[in-house]
Amino acid sequence: MSKDEPKNPMDDLQKQLQNLLKNSNAIPLNFQSPSTDQKNSDSKDSSEEDPEDPILKKIRHFHRKPKEVRDYLNRFVIKQQEAKKVLSVAICDHYNHIRRCLEDPKLKEREYNKPNILLLGPTGVGKTFLMRNIAKLIGVPFVKADATKFSETGYVGNDVDDLIRDLVKAANGNIELAQYGIIYIDEIDKIATEGSGGRDVSGRGVQLNLLKLMEETDVNLFSPTDMMAQMQAMMEMSRGGQKPTKKTINTRHILFIVSGAFDQLAEKVKRRVQNTSIGFNSEPQPETEDLYQFLQKTETRDFINHGFEPEFIGRLPVRVACEALKAADLEEILVTSEGSILKQYQADFSGYEITLDIDAKAIKKIATLAAKENTGARGLMTILEKTFRDFKFELPSSGIEKFTVSPATIDSPKEYLNELLKREFPKQKKALLKDIDRFTKRFFQEHQIKLEFSSEAKDALIEKAQQEDQTVLAMSEKLFKDFQHGLKIIQRNTDESTFEIDLDTIQNPDQALSQKVVASFKKDADS
Ligand code: ADP
Repeated sequence: MSKDEPKNPMDDLQKQLQNLLKNSNAIPLNFQSPSTDQKNSDSKDSSEEDPEDPILKKIRHFHRKPKEVRDYLNRFVIKQQEAKKVLSVAICDHYNHIRRCLEDPKLKEREYNKPNILLLGPTGVGKTFLMRNIAKLIGVPFVKADATKFSETGYVGNDVDDLIRDLVKAANGNIELAQYGIIYIDEIDKIATEGSGGRDVSGRGVQLNLLKLMEETDVNLFSPTDMMAQMQAMMEMSRGGQKPTKKTINTRHILFIVSGAFDQLAEKVKRRVQNTSIGFNSEPQPETEDLYQFLQKTETRDFINHGFEPEFIGRLPVRVACEALKAADLEEILVTSEGSILKQYQADFSGYEITLDIDAKAIKKIATLAAKENTGARGLMTILEKTFRDFKFELPSSGIEKFTVSPATIDSPKEYLNELLKREFPKQKKALLKDIDRFTKRFFQEHQIKLEFSSEAKDALIEKAQQEDQTVLAMSEKLFKDFQHGLKIIQRNTDESTFEIDLDTIQNPDQALSQKVVASFKKDADS
């Protein structure tokens, strides 16, 4: 644009809008918009996809077999063998179908029953973890949401269509890729219309809205209730002088996973199973310890009786129950699972060059305590967080390079930590002395004045910092705040550029400095 050309006020507005959008939840402005090559039409047909698109490459070359997917999942997820088997088959079928549709767009016209999945089972046993790992393996975006946050109308809670828009965001605005993504909806049992506590009417509505998405529909990328997106559409219209292009995404190939603990349903199935078996066999049934095992025996009618619409449950043909995890399983997670929470803690400490060693008995103890929490593998995080909270705060400044966790550490972490800090005090002192060096270096860089601490001064500074529960660095900054002014005067009077910090200066910094300043005037007068 030349200097004289009138400035388009919309440009400024567009810039401001882009800044706002950066901080909002709106879909990125640079998504692969069909607007430039496809004005006034629906979203791109996948037959027009660029065969060289590197993002879709993984899907185009999807040739995995169920056992390979299972083996991949085994690296991360402990137990859940049935779920792994069922999911591997469903995933391979679905992405083979998509690959073939990409190779031959005519196939898209054929009837296709999507293997949407219903995952049942208690919290923290790996339902989400399984699906996240699958999405990572295939290279498709993944979105997780709670069924309870949706409302039928979208005015009170969110609109189910937001899920699709979130998927586009997770695909960094790539609509083509988002079309093959995975949507995971948790707490689905809370929108069953029976016994779900006051959500009956809207629960049914949400089920029907989800049903539409699970089948096939075009979802507008701009939510009608999202003001920001509406403004963006207006802006584009005003710039191009065109009517806003209809930007939609088709849900035909988006895979839906819904999950829930279904404990009430498990109770009902238990009663049904036990009543039936008592009818045929009068022997008393053994007391079952795990209620969730009854979820493996659910039938379509159980879900319908529980308050699900028949069409909704019918669109979830792949159903599998995950097992509850016992202490031994949690132990195995700690020891063998790639990316387990214990490995995360070890990585956190190694970020400060500290090695965390843990003995087998301690691992067992953590697993036993975690199992009592009744939150599956999430219990591990609770126990580890409780155990290591103070270690994470204290050890990075302690100079300690290694520590070993035993059952006693888990029983009384605070006591063990204090003992460790005392035992390793010489190492800690080395680290604290380094902090004094860091302070003198910084002081020199800022004021070109060199400070030299006597060894008594260093000890006194460390002691003072510990008494006041401060870092040596913070304590030094506090004690020598504004010292540079006095030292500059001394420097001018005496030509000295190095100053000794002695014990007296640590104990009475201001008094010691003023005495030194006065002395420097005398020295100046004498010379
Ligand atoms: P949910 O079953 O409620 O969806 P998640 O899959 O979110 O539970 O599990 C929470 C975390 O616990 C996971 O991120 C993972 O670290 C760990 N975890 C859960 N189950 C397993 C498992 N079977 N094997 C290994 N880690 C697991």
